[in-house]
Amino acid sequence: MDVVLRHANLPDGRRDVDIGIRDGVIIAVEPSLPAHAHEEMDVAGRLVSPPFVDAHFHLDSTLSLGLPRLNRSGTLLEGIALWGELKPHLTQEAVIARAMAYCDMAVAQGLLAIRSHVDVCDDRLLAVEALLEVKRRVAPYLDLQLVAFPQDGLFRSENGERNLLRALDLGVEVVGGIPHFERTMAEGARSVSRLCEIAADRGLLVDMHCDESDDPLSRHIETLAAETKRLGLYGRVAGSHLTSMHSMDNYYVSKLIPLIAESGVAAIANPLINITLQGRHDSYPKRRGMTRVPELMAAGVNVAFGHDCVMDPWYPFGSGDMLDVANMAVHVAQMTSLDGISSSFDAVTKNAARILHLDGYGIAPGCRADLVVLQASDPFEAIRLRATRLLVMRAGKVIARSPERVCALDLPGRPARLGLNFMPGSVQ
Ligand SMILES: [Zn+2]
Repeated sequence: MDVVLRHANLPDGRRDVDIGIRDGVIIAVEPSLPAHAHEEMDVAGRLVSPPFVDAHFHLDSTLSLGLPRLNRSGTLLEGIALWGELKPHLTQEAVIARAMAYCDMAVAQGLLAIRSHVDVCDDRLLAVEALLEVKRRVAPYLDLQLVAFPQDGLFRSENGERNLLRALDLGVEVVGGIPHFERTMAEGARSVSRLCEIAADRGLLVDMHCDESDDPLSRHIETLAAETKRLGLYGRVAGSHLTSMHSMDNYYVSKLIPLIAESGVAAIANPLINITLQGRHDSYPKRRGMTRVPELMAAGVNVAFGHDCVMDPWYPFGSGDMLDVANMAVHVAQMTSLDGISSSFDAVTKNAARILHLDGYGIAPGCRADLVVLQASDPFEAIRLRATRLLVMRAGKVIARSPERVCALDLPGRPARLGLNFMPGSVQ
């Protein structure tokens, strides 16, 4: 045995177990593991989680905030227009440098798998080539999965389909789309069918930006579910955003959610971005806009959360912290029950891993020894505190460490050191 982590709590509620690692693989997870190892680490009742997984991101635009200007209205459509202004000025070097800087940030936060959309509506395919290069560079420590994303519309943009196919030929592995941005509802539905056929022909996964709108009649998710069923793509398709579902008629949704569950389409909500971009045309009350997460989960649909954007034309904040994402989801979806909190943690870890079809993911014998030790005892505390990632491990090797977060207090008669880990009932 190379490494043993002693006294770990796991996200599924098991407490005080040991994790044994050999040759980069987890070989045992059990209480009081008798084996001796080269290196023993006592994690002292802290949460040890498999790495965070971001199911929806845009690595080609990240960290470009302010280039060439800021988004004044804060809307999705101004963001798309702004990105259009920036695109002709992008260089491959700059896209690579920003994406690499973001991946460093991600690793520091225990985020070791990212599904990133990459805009293919540029005849040069500059961002595609840049992110394929980033994928190669980060492969030893981060799983980067790329989605061919026709940002300006498959049919609405010139050469949309041709460039999407070129990107797939170059090695982009997931088929993307944006049906609500095509010229008409009918064209949107036609784009969904075409894109699903491309994926079926090539044996690829599908992940579309779908119904990212407050329009309750934007119903491309229905077509996506039906086409998934027609083409036998069960378990290989995800609908991202699905925000129109927030505003849909309840009767219609009572038919739609079982259809999504039956087709095996996964849902990806992006709480930070949905709460920021949706409802922009409302006065008061203002919509939240995020899709119906608890209801989808209750129907058995696999739901994950994405960060979507960090410091780009659509969103000025973010730091690659998937606990920030889960924290926002808990608030926006009102998932403050213990089950809701635990499901939100799953949505940024194992649910997302399933959507990406990640191999060997998890804290179990046979899985790759990728893990994160958090300064928290369980998922509840991790989300509450956006807990510090004390240690991040990839294939049994430590690749990032952060010091424990404590404050030195100088108050008469009070403790000298204050941690934020305050458990219910610890002060009577
Ligand atoms: Zn997106």
